[in-house]
Amino acid sequence: MRLIDIFVLNKCGSKKQAKKAIKKGLIQVNNEIVDEDMDITDETVIYDSRILDSHPLKYYIIHKPSGYVCANKDPHDPCLITLLPDDNLHYVGRLDRDTTGLVILTNDLKLRKRLTLPEFHIPRSYAFTCLNPLKDITPFKEGITIDGDVKCLPAIVEMTSEYDGIITLEEGRYHEIKKMFLSLNNRITSLHRIMYGDISLGDLESGTYRILTQEEINHLK
Ligand code: URA
Repeated sequence: MRLIDIFVLNKCGSKKQAKKAIKKGLIQVNNEIVDEDMDITDETVIYDSRILDSHPLKYYIIHKPSGYVCANKDPHDPCLITLLPDDNLHYVGRLDRDTTGLVILTNDLKLRKRLTLPEFHIPRSYAFTCLNPLKDITPFKEGITIDGDVKCLPAIVEMTSEYDGIITLEEGRYHEIKKMFLSLNNRITSLHRIMYGDISLGDLESGTYRILTQEEINHLK
């Protein structure tokens, strides 16, 4: 990672301030003053008598319990981010308050963009239960229209009973699955995200988190 990015991710200041600090000789790499931006792997970086974290990109998955919101502040409900040891993180694909399951949080904004924008076709799978039996899944394959005129991308639905199934989408519009079912005169009664890209929730307990492994991160990138 570039020295400038390490400076910014360690909350020492902006990119502009990083460049200035380097020019002024205020940053040491392995005890040597450096005068230009450089790639850092495991070197010790010191700024303002502080040893900076040279691996500042963080990647977590958490099992979201119902009742938590994917926000940084909320006047009514607890925020999911408060269950993590770091508050400088961004949600990758938010879940509704009553939806449970897998949420990725990271400060790697480049990866977040790749994982959320529909053009990258990252699949997200949810186990669902609906109110009325779902007999015909063809509308999902064709793309359901929600909000009057918004056509959703095609989704894959596999039913495990008349009421239960797994739905896989490659986009994440606001209340998308609930709205798809409402368009079909049906209703979601339970929604639980089990996969995001190659990452699966596995047996992570509700309310707990883990750091993604390097292998998992490499797969996502
Ligand atoms: N679609 C929804 O309707 N809600 C979610 O929480 C996620 C996807």
